[in-house]
Amino acid sequence: MESFNEAWGVICDYCKSKITDVAYKMWISRIEPVELDFDKGQTVLMVPSEFHKDTLERCYKTLLSEAFEAVFGTSFEICLTTPQEKETTEESKAEPGSIYDYTFSNFIVGPSNKFAHAAAMAVAANPAGAYNPLMMYGSSGLGKTHLLYAIGNEIKKNNPEMKIRYVKGDEFINELVKSIGTATNEEFRQKYRQSDVLLVDDVQFIAGKNSTQEEFFHTFNALYEDHKQIVLISDRPPKDMKVLDDRLRSRFESGLLADLQPPDIETRIAIIKKKAAILDVPVSDELAEYIAQKIKANVRQLEGVVKKLKARYLLNNEKITQTVVAEVIAEILNNDSTPEHTVEKVIEEVARTFGVSGEDIRSKKSRKASINNPRHVAIYITRELTGMSMVEIGKVFGNLHYSTIVYTIQQVDKKMQSDSNLKETVEDIIKNIRDN
Ligand code: ADP
Ligand code: MG
Repeated sequence: MESFNEAWGVICDYCKSKITDVAYKMWISRIEPVELDFDKGQTVLMVPSEFHKDTLERCYKTLLSEAFEAVFGTSFEICLTTPQEKETTEESKAEPGSIYDYTFSNFIVGPSNKFAHAAAMAVAANPAGAYNPLMMYGSSGLGKTHLLYAIGNEIKKNNPEMKIRYVKGDEFINELVKSIGTATNEEFRQKYRQSDVLLVDDVQFIAGKNSTQEEFFHTFNALYEDHKQIVLISDRPPKDMKVLDDRLRSRFESGLLADLQPPDIETRIAIIKKKAAILDVPVSDELAEYIAQKIKANVRQLEGVVKKLKARYLLNNEKITQTVVAEVIAEILNNDSTPEHTVEKVIEEVARTFGVSGEDIRSKKSRKASINNPRHVAIYITRELTGMSMVEIGKVFGNLHYSTIVYTIQQVDKKMQSDSNLKETVEDIIKNIRDN
């Protein structure tokens, strides 16, 4: 297998087949593969928190070991790490691409992404000289993050001395909030302002949070005035980012804007073939075309189909027929729309927007307004998007009684009528979840 990231999909599928969906989503799906060292027989996996790590150590380590063994035919020592630990050990090497193999050479170009691809190549060839900032936008799964990493990898290859910093909008928020709490604000500033290239993924999360926008604005200006390259990724163009500060909006629009559209059928077929070749799965031309006809709007899903086919091929020794392909496609398309999946996304999205953790939102322990408000919004949006019953919703949010859920939803509704800011925020979150 070409990269650990790809094998990881197969490992996940293995685990998924052995435990409940809820357990899988809660504990396994949030693991990020970091490193696989065949020589040492060791693998490093990143998990969101210490709590998560403890639970995995206690309950799922055997399963993970078993999955590695099934996929690679040999056992691995599993080392779990958290972002905090990783940061302290790897403070100075923040270059992208060490985890994922996202490069220009394995990006398939078609009419839908040609412009963004060319812009990204130009920026990579001439940082801060071609287009600054470059902002690329488009809906989920169209290759935005891939292109962003490709820029980073290419610049690093040609200019090893350059400091390249990659950050996601929501991580920027979390770090900023944490740095304020611990009086390390200056450190935080320096970290971002000393980069030669700043790559910001999912910058839409910065919109709506005033203190974060303010800090980001200053970071942006400091770098821009210093002739450093800035690349921004968003799920929509600046004009559609409703709660974006006007100063930031004009900064974002001052460079080059490039959009990515869903790929046409030829490009989809080419992508399937490429991914199948990388993963070494025998997918015939007819089947590649069949998949491309069924999945139209999202490259991540195309890739998901190939990964699942690989898992079935590898684990069950199954021949890849149209029936198998049809089943896998149905799984992929369904999986993205189950209520549990939507709840996950709601919680994740609300947590990001308000800068709190998903665990805070799920549990009813805290009485702090800073946690209660996001939790109420999450309950409201869950009801809007999933059609789950009040009883079911109550179970997700710390076992609240259904009457509390009814009351909460009424309250949020009422508040939205008088608070246009809240209303916009809620609408924005809903849009984000629907589009993804
Ligand atoms: P986004 O950030 O837009 O949501 P990603 O960059 O994460 O999407 O892409 C999703 C997956 O699809 C990634 O694994 C990426 O490598 C793959 N992908 C997307 N577009 C292409 C493409 N044009 N060629 C090859 N792989 C692609
Ligand atoms: Mg992305």
